[in-house]
Amino acid sequence: MGASDRTELEAQIHARVRELGELAISISGSLGTTYRRCGRTSCRCATGDQYKHPSLLLNSKAAGKTKSIYIPVQMAEEVKQWVERRHRMKELLKEIDQLAEQIIRAHVPATRDASARPRRRR
Ligand SMILES: [Zn+2]
Repeated sequence: MGASDRTELEAQIHARVRELGELAISISGSLGTTYRRCGRTSCRCATGDQYKHPSLLLNSKAAGKTKSIYIPVQMAEEVKQWVERRHRMKELLKEIDQLAEQIIRAHVPATRDASARPRRRR
């Protein structure tokens, strides 16, 4: 691998950094559904478990603790998009890791070549 390969790898990294910059709000965690009672005594859900309302939950981990928050129905589609964006961000970061690693590995033979070259006379 030569200098042009490094240029190509760097270009691939920059493309991913650009995509990261274009991604807007994101959030970590996974979505799940839970069933709960709304609290109104006149509601059907008060009469049996089978009538509980489905509710969207975002489960995440922070400092080893699992955290769950309810997602308001009106925000469901928006939050789903945020979660997908975070997945894409993680993917892009992983790809940047791999590309950066390739640059590091490619440097090894280049260093060997340099040390094999005769030393300059002083
Ligand atoms: Zn209810």
